[in-house]
Amino acid sequence: TIGILGGGQLGRMMTLSGTAMGYRFITLDPTDNSPCGQVARQIVAGYDDQKAARQLAEECDVITYEFENVDADVAALLENEAYVPQGSKLLYTTQHRLREKRAIEAAGVPVAPYREITSAEDMSAAIEALGVPCVLKTVTGGYDGKGQRVIRDTETALTAYEELAGLGTELVLEQFVSFECEISVIAARNPQGEIRTFPPAENVHVNNILHTSVVPARVSSELQLEAQQLAAKIAESMGAVGLLAVEMFVTRDGQLYVNELAPRPHNSGHYTMEACSTSQFEQHVRAICGLPLADTCLLSPVVMVNVLGEHIEAVIDRFAKKDADADELGVVPKLHLYGKADAKTGRKMGHINLLCHDVQHALDWIGKTNIWRNEYK
Ligand code: AMP
Repeated sequence: TIGILGGGQLGRMMTLSGTAMGYRFITLDPTDNSPCGQVARQIVAGYDDQKAARQLAEECDVITYEFENVDADVAALLENEAYVPQGSKLLYTTQHRLREKRAIEAAGVPVAPYREITSAEDMSAAIEALGVPCVLKTVTGGYDGKGQRVIRDTETALTAYEELAGLGTELVLEQFVSFECEISVIAARNPQGEIRTFPPAENVHVNNILHTSVVPARVSSELQLEAQQLAAKIAESMGAVGLLAVEMFVTRDGQLYVNELAPRPHNSGHYTMEACSTSQFEQHVRAICGLPLADTCLLSPVVMVNVLGEHIEAVIDRFAKKDADADELGVVPKLHLYGKADAKTGRKMGHINLLCHDVQHALDWIGKTNIWRNEYK
């Protein structure tokens, strides 16, 4: 039995994959009937509920998590009372941007130049060193672009500092990377030290939320290989177990800078579900259960497009009818829905993997549906 801290879509897809492999799953999540709770047994309790965490520890042979902001005390309790192969150190590092950057640098992998900011005085020296534009970020708690401000001149710097310093966490100032594109690589490592990486995905974000992942990424094959090697190097150096998603910027002159890590399955790895010989979810289950890692080769070009609250109705209509555009373009759309009832704007409700002969055909399909027209304004 595998226990999952968190009951969102990542836990749901992990459960669906792992169930096919013969494992049983229990999820701990505060909201009843969570996406994962619909396909696994669920303990309904808060993430800081020590009694519930203890129950999960008692009932499970292996424990994993599907989000990063796991309460440190609960993580420590679980590590003491159960088998948590990913450990709490990886979480401790990736929960904090500065610790994360130092760990990436320690692996010998480049990050965008940055400065730690602990006071208003630090800001002017850091801006002088890094130049504008630059990006001020909170070191903890930020996701999907929350807790960050782009600074274009020294005047906006102070207001940005005051706003973010008010959130009560440390800050980091990063040089703005004028990137050609963003890519990500999912690496997997098992406790025996075996490492495998998936082909890089080229990611487009809209309003700081992932919109599409295009695979193969439209960068040179040398860069793809280098990105995979960097991700493997980080996983190795950190002694990661399970998946490690590595997000990178690609500059015009072909330099790679790592931006962020996530020690879990990642939205930009959803394409693997149909397009690779092994999905990221199966690979994660294999890694945490100490099985040999499986082949990750790409079986077909693919574009993954996210279905948010504002898209869901049109998407369901579209999939209820015969799709002449898909037939004509030679695109095979595979819909995955997460079982969420409340379709709020910006909420991730599902995704579509568009298998294709050429990624441009899949992008044409997205355009023809008109469902994502606001993304291309
Ligand atoms: P993050 O929360 O660090 O993943 O940042 C969210 C998004 O903001 C990234 O996917 C980038 O598109 C953009 N961004 C973050 N940091 C930088 C940077 N140093 N230079 C340029 N763009 C950035």
